[in-house]
Amino acid sequence: MKSLSKLALALLVVAFFTACSSPGGKDDKKKQAIAQEKGFYLVQASAETEPVETAEDAADDLAIWYNPEDPGKSTIIATNKLKGLVVYNLDGKELYNYPLGNLNNVDIRTKFGFNGDSITIIGATNRTENTIVLMQVNTKTGELTELPLEKTIKPKSKDVYGFTLYKSKDPKHLNKMFAISIGTDGKMDQWELLENNGKVKARFVRIVKFDSKCEGLVADDETGNLFVGEETVGIWKMAALPSGGDKKELIADLKKSKLEADVEGLTIYYGKNKGGYLIASSQGNDSYAVFSRDGSNKYLGSFMITQGGGVDGTSDTDGIDVLNLNLGSNYPKGVFIAQDGYNYDGENLVNQNFKLVKWDEIASQFKPWLLIDDTYEKQ
Ligand code: CA
Ligand code: CA
Ligand code: CA
Ligand code: CA
Ligand code: CA
Ligand code: CA
Repeated sequence: MKSLSKLALALLVVAFFTACSSPGGKDDKKKQAIAQEKGFYLVQASAETEPVETAEDAADDLAIWYNPEDPGKSTIIATNKLKGLVVYNLDGKELYNYPLGNLNNVDIRTKFGFNGDSITIIGATNRTENTIVLMQVNTKTGELTELPLEKTIKPKSKDVYGFTLYKSKDPKHLNKMFAISIGTDGKMDQWELLENNGKVKARFVRIVKFDSKCEGLVADDETGNLFVGEETVGIWKMAALPSGGDKKELIADLKKSKLEADVEGLTIYYGKNKGGYLIASSQGNDSYAVFSRDGSNKYLGSFMITQGGGVDGTSDTDGIDVLNLNLGSNYPKGVFIAQDGYNYDGENLVNQNFKLVKWDEIASQFKPWLLIDDTYEKQ
């Protein structure tokens, strides 16, 4: 017994010093200094996905598919921007892999009327073909199948990059589904998605131009706001419906905020009565900025993901996504997921991956706490 506990102690000491001396650990010291200086909150991930199969800057964006039949079996649909799509379970195990090309950003919506059915769809930007890919989620297995298109969806932008879906809740445009992409040339293309004889028809509805490279895009289905990340400028807000006009308002100016270029992934935490948050990846200082969802989009603070519980922290994050709903015993209060630009396995830098953080771990660090509502389902 005695020698066993001595061995356990020795192992613990070794593990402790390995963690402290690892490059991941050094990365964390820098992070803690930034957090202290800027007043950022620190959280830890509780799991990470398997690394993507491609080395270098490969993992990019993700969308969480909520499985209403069995929330613990929800999935992470992620992009390997040098290969295609990868689907993981909430333990981070790879389930499926779709080598469709250089798919950069991805998004998901439910209840798209198709062939007399109400289906769950994902859309993604394909930089190999400069097209938009649309797929259906098999809600039994989480598998993806390509949706038949009436015609290839080609943006006017020469280099498609960011992406969001938008399902309108505006009474005049109720449940209309839109695909919105943006290119490295700052050109934003928008289509309405419709069904036509068993195929998806993408009806082009507008183009909006930004002055420089943009990627992060997220549409708020309930408020009708569209947020656009202009990488070295900040976050713009405009109407997601073309009928709302093209007027833009800069809600986060990189020159006057705690965000640091590039602005990358954007996502929305939905709460009732338009409560909840817009969250942005501030890639330049490895943090995530939280804004209120309502009118003024007030900045509420930022957090960073540091190492702990056997999972390294995140840095240089591209895509993020969040879901407020109960996802079973590991994530009963929802989950926030972030791409990690430098994934360490002990001392070794390995291929990039995605980190999962319990939403309540994040919400409870903020002063005052952020909203925790695991029952509100977005309309
Ligand atoms: Ca990257
Ligand atoms: Ca996304
Ligand atoms: Ca980018
Ligand atoms: Ca990216
Ligand atoms: Ca890391
Ligand atoms: Ca790791």
